[in-house]
Amino acid sequence: MKEKSRIYLDNAASTPIDSAVSDVMIPYIFDHFGNPSSLHENGRKTTLALSKARFHVSKLIGAKPNEIYFTSGGTESNNMALIGYSKAVKKLKPEYDRILVSEIEHESILETVRYLEKDLRFAIDFIKTTRDGFVDLKSYSDLLSPKTCLVSVMLVNNEIGTIQPIQSMVEILKKRNYDTLFHSDGVQALGKIPIDVRQMKLDMLSISSHKINGPKGIGALYIKRGICIEPIVYGGGQEMSLRSGTENVYSIVGFGKACEIWKNKMNQSNSVVRELQKYMINRVMNEIPGSRINGSLQNRISNNVNFSFKGINGENLLVKLDEYGIEASTGSACSSNKKKQASHVLKSLGLSYDEISGSIRFSLGSQNTLNELEVAVKVLKDVIHEFRETN
Ligand SMILES: *Cc1c(COP(=O)(O)O)cnc(C)c1O
Repeated sequence: MKEKSRIYLDNAASTPIDSAVSDVMIPYIFDHFGNPSSLHENGRKTTLALSKARFHVSKLIGAKPNEIYFTSGGTESNNMALIGYSKAVKKLKPEYDRILVSEIEHESILETVRYLEKDLRFAIDFIKTTRDGFVDLKSYSDLLSPKTCLVSVMLVNNEIGTIQPIQSMVEILKKRNYDTLFHSDGVQALGKIPIDVRQMKLDMLSISSHKINGPKGIGALYIKRGICIEPIVYGGGQEMSLRSGTENVYSIVGFGKACEIWKNKMNQSNSVVRELQKYMINRVMNEIPGSRINGSLQNRISNNVNFSFKGINGENLLVKLDEYGIEASTGSACSSNKKKQASHVLKSLGLSYDEISGSIRFSLGSQNTLNELEVAVKVLKDVIHEFRETN
């Protein structure tokens, strides 16, 4: 059970599981525990559950069920897309030796391209970012080359919530007539903005369950029909031979349910969260001197608020807020492990060192209330005031 007094404002790192999601998972933990590869009734039940979940996941992104490959989450989906396709390229058209990504990708993309550069000898190009937090289309056009086998740019940035101009990027690519695929990390976009892979002409898309109130450790990669990639996990041939290993049935069932729920509640839920976002931004900008908002307020998802406070250290602020029961983040949860690394996203926006070190991210969820935000703003005001007094 969640401690009552705590206020969770870190929904970009993970979200609480929806009780309607855990409800449908439980029978697959205790009763229908069969291996989907088994031919008996218990096995067949789980096979059926997988198909149903695959259907709901595909619906949320406008794909066909047979274009959905379940993985262990966003990280693995990104690895599978980039490494899997690069391995296929090495075999089939080795003259395509460049990969193009943005500077503000998630670590699961950046670390993967570092690996591809080092071990598979691909050349990696990095697209510059505007001060507002969008990929720079001029830089993108300049870097896009006939040797680029793959572009990977996220739909929504996880630190500042900016929605990237993927549509324009795809159009620019199509005009070139290169044999280049477009992959997108859609983890932060899922449930926040409408996604239609067919209409958007995406070749691959990574998504994850635990950012949309589903279980952790499960996600999917959409691969457009006809595109061939090599597996990165070998074995019994599950997931149409692209991702072997007994399927994580109850998590897949939960992920499917979460997608079904978000398909229905997306518009309504996001407009509620949008009001919370406005409230928080207005109050902080008006009442806390020396505050700035990082990333554009236009083309930004409803749940992200990223501030910098003058003269404040974000890490210290985070720890202090936590003492008062308010849970936020200094950007990306995954990179919090790597101490002392300034946010590569804010750096790419061209922020000063002080602006970066004074930054903090609040990410809202549909479970948050106006009352919680009132409390959070008050504590934030008091803590920043106190820090400034004692300095
Ligand atoms: C959370 C996140 C991931 C990683 O997803 P996991 O399921 O936690 O592995 C990848 N990309 C972005 C943009 C994310 O926010």
